[in-house]
Amino acid sequence: MTLLDINELKTYYRADDGWVRATDDASLSIERGETVGLVGESGSGKTTLAKSIIRLLPDNAEIKGGSIDFDGTEVTELSDRQLRKQIRWSEVSMIPQNAMNGFDPVYTVGEQIVEVITYHEDTSKAEAKERARELFDDLGIDPDRVDDYPHQFSGGMAQRAMIALALALSPSLVLADEPTTALDVVIQDRILDTIKEMQEEINSAMIMITHDMSVVSETCDRIAVVYGGRIVEIADAETIISNPRHPYTLGLRNAFPDISDDDKELISIPGTPPDLVDPGEGCRFAPRCPFAQEECWEVTPEAEPYGDGHEVECHRADEIELLQEEAAKKST
Ligand code: ATP
Repeated sequence: MTLLDINELKTYYRADDGWVRATDDASLSIERGETVGLVGESGSGKTTLAKSIIRLLPDNAEIKGGSIDFDGTEVTELSDRQLRKQIRWSEVSMIPQNAMNGFDPVYTVGEQIVEVITYHEDTSKAEAKERARELFDDLGIDPDRVDDYPHQFSGGMAQRAMIALALALSPSLVLADEPTTALDVVIQDRILDTIKEMQEEINSAMIMITHDMSVVSETCDRIAVVYGGRIVEIADAETIISNPRHPYTLGLRNAFPDISDDDKELISIPGTPPDLVDPGEGCRFAPRCPFAQEECWEVTPEAEPYGDGHEVECHRADEIELLQEEAAKKST
């Protein structure tokens, strides 16, 4: 059953030189309980897309078009108050990149969790605090630490506390925005496992944002590849890893280590991401694409289906295997 249906969403930021088209005609739907990865380089628009769902956007942002249907409610039409009451935390929660910034430094972490629970539920403060203590225990934090202030927490512990907050009301959808990038590598895996375990327990759907292909391949059912504010390819995780059709996805795959291949040579994608103020006509990846031809510079590609929910925005997606073979021959 579909939980979230985003259609041709445009979320732009006002800047001195015009509108930054951070999300530009992005469409994405998510089933209940499903985990979808949003993957792409820094600045491709992953965070903007996710934050649009709960309209947690900065003042200079505007949703310029499209729709966001969350479980039958059109999010773009809700007032701020309705959003706070009906959607944020209770139905859709967010684990930010850096949990320390997510907490208010002047209240204890426990007080903040209690505040969120009692705002949404008819529960006493004592009961809410007990729930916070249980969540801490589940997440491997000493329950007495609910009385600590955010600055008394290590980065890993703050991230766990943020997971506790994000899951406290058993939301239907969790937005995890690079939830482990601020942490050291050893803790990263443990936190990812914790998020997955807790998510399965409450059976919520999740959008996992990352620039790291190896993270999404391990944790997601489907992967949406974001480039220049658009979803350029989407498919189940296995297809994106093994049979991608967009040259950008191929590039991303080559830029990340593979757990099953220690000797893999990592090749970064040459060039820089597009100017989102004036992206112009044509495919936004054309200037960096090894396979671009005239049409790619002139006509913006539409999403084309390749079976089983696999969709690709590329004029040359049909020929991708041949193009790869030719490129491999040339390089030897
Ligand atoms: P990262 O991984 O670095 O967070 P991202 O893929 O999540 O990147 P966004 O943060 O959504 O990308 O940014 C998309 C584009 O919007 C970028 O070009 C960025 O510079 C621009 N942008 C983000 N926030 C603002 C803002 N408040 N005002 C103007 N432009 C912004």
